[in-house]
Amino acid sequence: MADLIVRDSLYIDGAWVSSDGSETIDVENPATEAVIGRIPSGTAGDVDKAVKAARAALPAWSATDPEERSKYLSRLVEAVTARHEEIARTIAQEMGAPIKIAQMVQAGLPIADIATAAQAATEFQWERQIGNSTVVMHPIGVVGAITPWNYPLHQVTAKVAYALAAGCTIVLKPSEVAPLCTYLLFDAIHEVGLPPGVVNLVPGYGPTVGEAIASHPGVDMVSFTGSTRAGRRVAELGAQTIKKVALELGGKSANVILPDADLAKAVKAGVSNCYLNSGQTCTAWTRMLVHESQYDEAVEIARQTAEAFTIGDPFDESTRLGPLVSKAQRDRVASYIEKGKEEGARVVTGGNAQPKDKGYFVEPTVFADVTTDMTIAQEEIFGPVLSILKYRDEDEALAIANDSVYGLAGGVWSGDPEKAKAFARKMETGQVDINGGSFNVAAPFGGFKQSGVGRELGPFGLEEFTQPKSLQL
Ligand code: NAD
Repeated sequence: MADLIVRDSLYIDGAWVSSDGSETIDVENPATEAVIGRIPSGTAGDVDKAVKAARAALPAWSATDPEERSKYLSRLVEAVTARHEEIARTIAQEMGAPIKIAQMVQAGLPIADIATAAQAATEFQWERQIGNSTVVMHPIGVVGAITPWNYPLHQVTAKVAYALAAGCTIVLKPSEVAPLCTYLLFDAIHEVGLPPGVVNLVPGYGPTVGEAIASHPGVDMVSFTGSTRAGRRVAELGAQTIKKVALELGGKSANVILPDADLAKAVKAGVSNCYLNSGQTCTAWTRMLVHESQYDEAVEIARQTAEAFTIGDPFDESTRLGPLVSKAQRDRVASYIEKGKEEGARVVTGGNAQPKDKGYFVEPTVFADVTTDMTIAQEEIFGPVLSILKYRDEDEALAIANDSVYGLAGGVWSGDPEKAKAFARKMETGQVDINGGSFNVAAPFGGFKQSGVGRELGPFGLEEFTQPKSLQL
């Protein structure tokens, strides 16, 4: 068995320090169910120290030239790039992403995030003139960042790199489920020599460390990614001290295949999008909308595509679907599959939520005959479960696509890109990929409706960590 990865410190004021408490958290490999790592379970006292360090560092850091912050970030790109393979392997172990996905996406995106933030710092419009006012964009202050396990490092860098670019200082609580990759980022941060207190790491549980960050009067803004339940709690706590609260929550995104689209291409891409990261992706296109005249053909293509998603060891290069992150997550997905069957949807393929003796695997599952009122068409499942819905005309397709409390992402496919764009403009959602348009690390990312508040990445992501000050001349 591999050695246990023990990281027994927090990172506060530029140094690795012990927690106030003595509790620890075990990190599990979801493919083997073995404990692979251990981290401290931070306390409210640890958060208080980290916030004080961040406040003390704020005046000097916020006064640095954006060019200087950009240089720090460029050095961080190099330090993280040197750890690319270690980060990928760590994430494959702690959350089960297949190694190729771990390399390209899980470890690749954070590097792109930091590089893009470095560029945004220098290109940002820090000052603008409105009539007799000079409007100066100010860093918002001390940022509390709370992140989930599904893209455990990307979600950290989307906040940390941009808050740094904006001139803010940070207290970060990564997910307790997949925290080990964040330690590698902090090794890189330490190596780069960011001034003490500018970035601080307090690992631990949500109700202790997360709530201490959300309620601390020394934190000016909380940037949260995760479940709606925890996001609501963070917003409630943040309201007590009138913090700015940015929320990246769930999704139930629609992939709308218009009748003139390349059906096979659209269905195959739709299935792959839904199953990326074992379906544990907030932007996943979990609802596929197909015209009634093409429905049976689309269901058959989806079945064949889904069955090619081989389940297995994340380190086996032929594996396309790793396990879910935890037993709790697997059990949640299993209950949604049961709910889908009970409510009358048809399992076209998959449906088994315990196909292996060990590991939290779920078979790639496709449901047909799904209607928009069903639970599996409304709630975020966060597993490899696709629902295929039928529409009669474009108006009905739009009504179904928008029939959701969520609005994070989506797709539209058509032989005519202008027609697809026109449809996309009517969708109540933060991002739409036209005919499979690829993810853009500099485009604003965030949700309409209950998918969240605020935007991350690129110039809009940087702006989120600033506030305008008007000087009248
Ligand atoms: P979660 O919301 O519980 O955890 C996300 C982060 O919030 C973690 O760091 C966690 O420790 C922290 N947290 C939890 N409770 C908190 C509280 N009361 N105050 C402050 N911080 C708190 O999410 P989860 O349990 O990891 O996953 C549950 C569900 O959330 C998933 O099944 C999925 O539907 C959804 N989810 C969505 C995203 C996303 O990117 N939109 C990411 C992960 C999970």
